[in-house]
Amino acid sequence: MRYLSTRGQAPELDFAGVLLAGLADDGGLYVPAVWPQFSADDWRAMRRLPYPDLAARVIQAFIGDAVPADAVLAMARAAYAGFAHPAVVPLVQLEGGLWVQELFHGPTLAFKDMAMQMLGRLFDYVLKARDARVTIVGATSGDTGSAAIEAFAGRERADILILHPHERTSEVQRRQMTTVAAANVANVAVQGSFDDCQDLVKAMFADAPFRDAVHLSAVNSINWARIAAQVPYYVAAALALGAPDREVAFAVPTGNFGNVLAAYVAKQMGLPIAKLVIGSNRNDILARFLAGNDMSMRPVEPSLSPSMDIQVSSNFERLLFELLDRDPVATADCMARFRASGTMPVPPAAWDKAQALLCGFRLDDEGTLAEIRRLHKASGYLADPHTAVAVAAARAHPAPAGVPMIVEATAHPAKFPDAIEAAVGVRPPLPSHLGDLYERDEHYTVLPNDLATIEAQVRVLAKRNTA
Ligand SMILES: *Cc1c(COP(=O)(O)O)cnc(C)c1O
Repeated sequence: MRYLSTRGQAPELDFAGVLLAGLADDGGLYVPAVWPQFSADDWRAMRRLPYPDLAARVIQAFIGDAVPADAVLAMARAAYAGFAHPAVVPLVQLEGGLWVQELFHGPTLAFKDMAMQMLGRLFDYVLKARDARVTIVGATSGDTGSAAIEAFAGRERADILILHPHERTSEVQRRQMTTVAAANVANVAVQGSFDDCQDLVKAMFADAPFRDAVHLSAVNSINWARIAAQVPYYVAAALALGAPDREVAFAVPTGNFGNVLAAYVAKQMGLPIAKLVIGSNRNDILARFLAGNDMSMRPVEPSLSPSMDIQVSSNFERLLFELLDRDPVATADCMARFRASGTMPVPPAAWDKAQALLCGFRLDDEGTLAEIRRLHKASGYLADPHTAVAVAAARAHPAPAGVPMIVEATAHPAKFPDAIEAAVGVRPPLPSHLGDLYERDEHYTVLPNDLATIEAQVRVLAKRNTA
């Protein structure tokens, strides 16, 4: 399987190359040169597979011969063995025709685990084959950092250092990162904001001698392997509800556009998806784009669904490339103008295609609390704030008659106890595997917002594990 950059100026790579590269050299994002195709019979043959086996079969289509099938299957089985539900991604029926698919039974209680658990293993495999090591650095305001740490703790070939803003994450989020005791993991609390943390990561990547010395790498949401590892759960839900012999629809709470992009990919592979609905909070750049071709940046405002508090959806470039008929020159031009002006001039023909493909929806915090309350009252179901936005989106854009609507539930309600308590008056308990989170020892270093100090800390981690 060959991959090309959305901006057309970077070398083509295979899956292993794309996995390690993350971003393309020309600033673009890697996408498969062609979409793998599954026939109706191929889909039917997957109906009875356990989730890890189904996941391996779907992901293999993107890996090609870069990793052998028996190794991919073993990785998928190991990746999902630790999930707290035997079905891994169970479907729950809320009412006639409306379902939620729970993606939060992994170690950190958010859907990021679905891809990260595969990513950690894929990194180890590919780095071993190349006899190489990497040092992963990342900045987090919460969910991504803990999912990455859980996925890379104890891996042989990668060290990981995550920056978080000191005293500006929730205690659950901090403890999920800092209580992981592994020699290849380091946490740094930066005396600054999340933006400062992100700037430090960018500065480390821009420091070429440092970058090369520690073999810097990243696992952020633009890494293609994360998208590939998110396609299987759309397949599993669709097959369970009658595909390929019946169409299905999905509603997805959306921030960086990685999750819903995987649904688009499944559709390109031949899964009969009739409708895709995307839910946003008050940071509604995608909803504004779909409503009136207004893709313009505004300041990020905090909300009850913090993992969707974004200004720019980094994965949108991959969809844009598709909407522009895979024209890399037009894509690069759109992105350059977006960067320069803060507004993306999407040509009308491409916007029409986006509108045919996606329905947008925006919900403020009050509406989110109301939806959590309504669901709880109707069926006793507790939805986290991100999931609640998508449930409301699904109600606003119902599927055609006879087409099941599946809402992607991206976080466990116990991850957002304050919002749940505000909505329904109860604090959901943490699941048993995290029940002692508040008693566990924490490991992190508080450091000033200073590049040289942080780089020195990264060097210590990288050296300790290569010595
Ligand atoms: C990351 C995240 C999202 C947004 O997913 P994207 O792939 O960035 O669109 C939604 N909900 C939760 C709980 C998340 O952690």
